[in-house]
Amino acid sequence: MHSRARLSFHEAVISPAVVNRYTTSVFSFLRSAFAFDAPCALMSPRSSLRRLAALGAILVGLCLTAAPASGQDLPLAMDTPLPGTDSYDDAIPTPTEVIGHEIGTRHTRPAQVVRYFEAVAAASDRVQLREHGRTYEGRRLIHAVVTSTDNQENLDQIQRANRRAATAPTQVSDEDLQDRPAVVLMGYSIHGDEASGTEAAILLLYHLAAGSGPDVEAALENAVTLIDPMFNPDGRDRFVDWVNGNRGGTPTADPQDREHNQPWPGGRTNHYWFDLNRDWLPAQHPSSQGRLDYFHNWKPQVLTDFHEMGSEATYFFQPGVQSRTNPNTPEMNQELTGRIAERHGEYLDQIGSLYYTRETFDDFYYGKGSTYPDINGSIGILFEQASSRALRKETSKGELTYPFTVRNQFMTSLSTMRAVVELRTDLLEYQRDFFANRDEALQDTETEAFLVDRSAQPTRARALAQVLDRHEVRMFDLDESVQANGTTFRPGDAYMVPLDQPQGRFVKAAMERTSTYPDSIFYDVSTWSLPLAFGVEHAAVSDAPAQGQRLQDPSYESGEVVGGRSEYTYVLPWGKYYAPRAVQRLHNNDIRPRVMTEPFTARVNGSSQSFDRGAIVVQVQQRGVAADSIHQVVQRIAEDDYVDVYAVDQGMTPQGPDLGSAGSDILDPPKVAIITGTGGGSRYSGTSAYNAGEVWHLLSERMNVPVSLVDLSDVQYADLDRYNTMVLAGGSFNDLPTDDIENWVRNGGTLIGVEDAVEWPIEQGMVDLEERELDVDSLVQDQSYADLDNAYGAQGIGGSIFETNLDPTHPVAYGYDESVPVFRVGTGFYDPSDEPGASVGTYDATPRLSGYLSDEQTEQARGAASIEAHEVGGGQVILFMDNPNFRAFWYGTNGLFLNAVHFGQIL
Ligand SMILES: [Zn+2]
Repeated sequence: MHSRARLSFHEAVISPAVVNRYTTSVFSFLRSAFAFDAPCALMSPRSSLRRLAALGAILVGLCLTAAPASGQDLPLAMDTPLPGTDSYDDAIPTPTEVIGHEIGTRHTRPAQVVRYFEAVAAASDRVQLREHGRTYEGRRLIHAVVTSTDNQENLDQIQRANRRAATAPTQVSDEDLQDRPAVVLMGYSIHGDEASGTEAAILLLYHLAAGSGPDVEAALENAVTLIDPMFNPDGRDRFVDWVNGNRGGTPTADPQDREHNQPWPGGRTNHYWFDLNRDWLPAQHPSSQGRLDYFHNWKPQVLTDFHEMGSEATYFFQPGVQSRTNPNTPEMNQELTGRIAERHGEYLDQIGSLYYTRETFDDFYYGKGSTYPDINGSIGILFEQASSRALRKETSKGELTYPFTVRNQFMTSLSTMRAVVELRTDLLEYQRDFFANRDEALQDTETEAFLVDRSAQPTRARALAQVLDRHEVRMFDLDESVQANGTTFRPGDAYMVPLDQPQGRFVKAAMERTSTYPDSIFYDVSTWSLPLAFGVEHAAVSDAPAQGQRLQDPSYESGEVVGGRSEYTYVLPWGKYYAPRAVQRLHNNDIRPRVMTEPFTARVNGSSQSFDRGAIVVQVQQRGVAADSIHQVVQRIAEDDYVDVYAVDQGMTPQGPDLGSAGSDILDPPKVAIITGTGGGSRYSGTSAYNAGEVWHLLSERMNVPVSLVDLSDVQYADLDRYNTMVLAGGSFNDLPTDDIENWVRNGGTLIGVEDAVEWPIEQGMVDLEERELDVDSLVQDQSYADLDNAYGAQGIGGSIFETNLDPTHPVAYGYDESVPVFRVGTGFYDPSDEPGASVGTYDATPRLSGYLSDEQTEQARGAASIEAHEVGGGQVILFMDNPNFRAFWYGTNGLFLNAVHFGQIL
């Protein structure tokens, strides 16, 4: 039973005598498979070849590719090599036995994946199954820990030793690394509709759990392999439900077929329509948080990230475009990526699959799964397979099948394992040195520490600390007061994030502001400076002050009810992160809040307390609500919304308006419709699922506001009077019924537009704003044909951070100071409105705080409109040119958007 292990059955796995015995049946199987009308049933279970057949991608590949002579994979599928693999253990269940279908014959559902992983873990002492969380929809997030039985017995010790290379690198010698297994995290299909990766994960698990032979054994002995088969099970289920549900008994390759065209929003994203492959750094979603937790417990040397791309492409693996590698990533990282890539090339050569490297994809934004490891001493590798989307798909190069795509992903999974075995000590040393050489890497960095104030915005400062904590960053209290950037940072009221710590290189990359770039094309955003995003007072200091106690627990701190139980009113100051949730909590309990539009002072506990605009007054004696219930709700607000509430026993105030002021409006509960879907256009038109999802997540998940997702094509039939607030979160809205919406606004509705959605109300003439023109063609005129793409790209804004100057007396800016960092994508700039009071925010004369911005676009942005609020009849249109809710980590500007939701009605 030992020979070259290839999955070409005629010369495989088994001794020549056995081969003779089985060759016929195998070939007859293959032939019948080619005929396509024959069932793709496997051979008799008695056959010892059944075990190889369990690697169904290959066999099934034949079944599915057979009918139309695609030429793409037919001859190759017959000769798929599985290097260094002799046989498979009967005691380990095959995917078919557990799941009920051959891998590749249909799209495997998340629950089936979990069931298979459970079954293998139960049967194999090479495999442990671990759960690292639940998705929003309650699906289990699992990963398997796969290694030799010897390693399994010493797993804790291996894990501890592996972590030491990161946490105490100078104490780890080359000899220490000699006999230690590497750790590789094989991660798959973070985009739920890029489904082939997960199928390959199933095959990899079977291969490692059941296989024997020199390469399998080498992989088990030399590596601890963490197989995370589904980074995004909610998205996968949405997608799989669609493809499996729209396929008949005979799969069709027609790209216009329903099976190939999932409806908006598709399965790419998570429950709230976020791209999880941007969330590795912000870490705002449960799946990212659970994954980071085990990532850092292990500190893998290699992490794979399997994706799919357009159907006309071939196969891509990193390294990508060299000039688009983040400058904080060491060169050696790219060199090792290149050496690993040689193995992918070899393995794909063997099965005849075309591929490419060093083009298209970058390695810049640390929020992506293939780039995040690069700032953690690890090697992240992006794989992109041309997508068959459904089971078969016509392309200009012939038919592309799901099994073919699975096979490629499986082969590069194996080549990754081979590379980890062969480069094991290089990878271990590289990671150790990444952490050991921190000082050297940071020697040109002037910053020694970041200081973050937590007194003005305690919840936002702690939300930032929570993110840093998820990345194993250490934070410390200050030992003494420090003056920097015009702010005094005080012990107990601030924390310090020093670069002199194991995660120092990460700290720099996550916190710094950037303005110079080796390349001007960005696959994603050009900056993500976390202190700016969280809107906290902060400073980068070149001398780290003496540090106090380590900040151990970054969870939010409850507020208090200052002054105890009141029989008259409570006052909630405005501006803390969860104050809008506090107001919503009042609404949800039928308690009517009033908003104060002028500053005032009030007597609290015998002393004078001042309140800014936006303070919420809660009268204790309200019709229809028992005072006791008001006290309870106020108590919960302090505890769970983390804001202080003040008991005020007199309506007459020492300064400013009295509490029953004519200018203090009673707030209605927001009744919010978010416009979603594609309307009458194609599935690629209409609203932006990302932007709509950000609003949905903010309101429904964080702020307890019930929202209605209303499809664009249903708006014309909808009873709009059910809503007082409508959000156009991004995208194009040509299918909206203009008259209906305008009438609804004129009757008192608040229409909120975000990013490119601001165009619709402007185009409809509801708001009068002048767009600034920039003739980009004339700017790129002198460029050669080959340089044109770059020249146009250099005039784009893929995501930069601007400074917006606010009018803090405007209700949309209540709770804010005079300036705020905002996140901006796109180049549509408008002059601020001439209408008095309508211009809530404009970009600063020096607009850029961080990120890429060309000189010409800087000119365009100077003083341009950032936030506009226009009265239209009895209602209002509020426009955010930026994205205040970007990727759920822009805590600093969420408040502006929430002001529009809660206070739009008082404009
Ligand atoms: Zn993808």
